[in-house]
Amino acid sequence: MLVDYRVRQREYLLAISRALTSELDLADVLRIIVQASVEFISGRAGTIVLADPSDNVFRIAAVYGLQRDVFDQLSPLVMGLPFQPGQEQEIIPELTKRIRRVAQEADIGVTQVLRLPMLSGDQLIGMIYVFQSASYRISSDAANLLQSFADQAAIAVKNARLYQEVIHEKQQQDAILEQSADGIMILDRQLSVIRFNPSISRMSGWQQQDAIGKPHRDIIRWHKLRTELTLESALANGWPLPGAATLYVEGELDRSSGDMISLGITYAPLMNPKGRMTNIIANARDLTRYRQEEELQKTFISVVSHELKTPVSIIKGYAGTLGRRDARWSPSEIHDYAAVIEEEADQLTELIDNLLEASRLQSGSFQLEINEEIELDKLAANTVRKFEGQSDRHKMVLDFPAEFPSISGDERRLIQVFNNLISNAIKYSPEGGQIGISGRAHTDYVTISVRDEGIGIPRHEQHRIFEKFARLDNALSRKTEGTGLGLFLTKAIIEAHGGSIWFSDNSGRENGDTSGTTFTFSLPR
Ligand code: ATP
Ligand code: MG
Repeated sequence: MLVDYRVRQREYLLAISRALTSELDLADVLRIIVQASVEFISGRAGTIVLADPSDNVFRIAAVYGLQRDVFDQLSPLVMGLPFQPGQEQEIIPELTKRIRRVAQEADIGVTQVLRLPMLSGDQLIGMIYVFQSASYRISSDAANLLQSFADQAAIAVKNARLYQEVIHEKQQQDAILEQSADGIMILDRQLSVIRFNPSISRMSGWQQQDAIGKPHRDIIRWHKLRTELTLESALANGWPLPGAATLYVEGELDRSSGDMISLGITYAPLMNPKGRMTNIIANARDLTRYRQEEELQKTFISVVSHELKTPVSIIKGYAGTLGRRDARWSPSEIHDYAAVIEEEADQLTELIDNLLEASRLQSGSFQLEINEEIELDKLAANTVRKFEGQSDRHKMVLDFPAEFPSISGDERRLIQVFNNLISNAIKYSPEGGQIGISGRAHTDYVTISVRDEGIGIPRHEQHRIFEKFARLDNALSRKTEGTGLGLFLTKAIIEAHGGSIWFSDNSGRENGDTSGTTFTFSLPR
């Protein structure tokens, strides 16, 4: 008899410890425990209730031996009695009384109840209830064993909750890693990539599945360094220093696709308690835009200073000449020199206006001053008259239908558009030729074209001519004056009017021909 009891005891303990170490989920483990508890003392049924951490209310987590709906009837009676250490002796009779009442009603033949606290430290996290049909006392040995079942159940619950927390934290970390706009890469001690987030995948051009497992130096190949050290050379020089300082490396990175990207990477070592490095976390930031801005700033300064210098030195030269006391100038000479000074001053004003407009566009304070009834054919004719005197190589031809419809718009800015397009047509057809300015009226909109027979725009440059400070790298653009703001502003003005602007090669062929370019813009009527 005793041997039999010992064998059973061992079997139940084994079953429970097996359940605990297997990868079952908590509900299954608890079911095994409640079943063992019930069978061990030949009970009728049992349940495990757990305190819900969110509201501390006890809820059924596992049942054995009875239908769940019977438990649902039992539970409000049973669970209304709080567990107080050391006072079970007083509570059990009350519990039994209640249970018998319900059992009678539900006809389930339960006469006695036993409950075992599941404690985690001082905290009551749940209870095991065992319902018996016969009233007998269980030995203290058996009671101890049952309590050890409850302790095991408490451990299972605690582990499951810890595991949930770990999973939850890991999910959070994964989400941060996945969503981060910064490129994040984690390296192991041998500098092999073990994590690679989508941002760094975008920056480096490496697919995640290709990068993982590769050595860092295969993925991060610097074309040009702006800082002194790479990760590899820093490590060779004794990094990380005590105190685990981070390392910053910046430069141009060769991407897997063969092009380059400006990147800054901060490496942070992870140390174990013994001070040994276990991982390196690399945080990469794409600096391309920042570099482009920097480039633009430089261009801005060099272009503007160059463009300002030219008219200023001409004005100074002519003013100095006119001011000489030892020379006498004829009225026509004075008139001519003054005309040059005036023209150059106009150039300066235009340049300053353009810069102001560009900065207004950048700051978002660009606003149209709309006038009604703008006659574009008249504006075109006026602009042509202004430019005709400046070049005898070019023949300007206006082509507008009679009764060209007037539109509403910002007159001063639309004059600027004509100025820019016609001055470009002249500037970029140094051999001269015909410049045609034509207008067409449609139901909802009008189009204006400016056509020249000049040098054309090479196809590979066509995408950038509307950009700020874009000056094409053909021999001409270096010789001719200009800031590269004209088309940028023109496009902004047209678009602010709700129109659009485009251009085409007159021949339809690629670069190399000299049949010129046609710029066309549309404006709503
Ligand atoms: P700005 O107009 O500020 O004085 P810009 O004329 O150089 O200077 P944009 O008018 O913006 O600047 O033109 C940009 C570039 O596009 C020019 O530098 C030139 O290389 C090219 N381009 C513009 N118009 C023509 C054209 N009609 N034919 C050929 N190339 C052109
Ligand atoms: Mg221009």
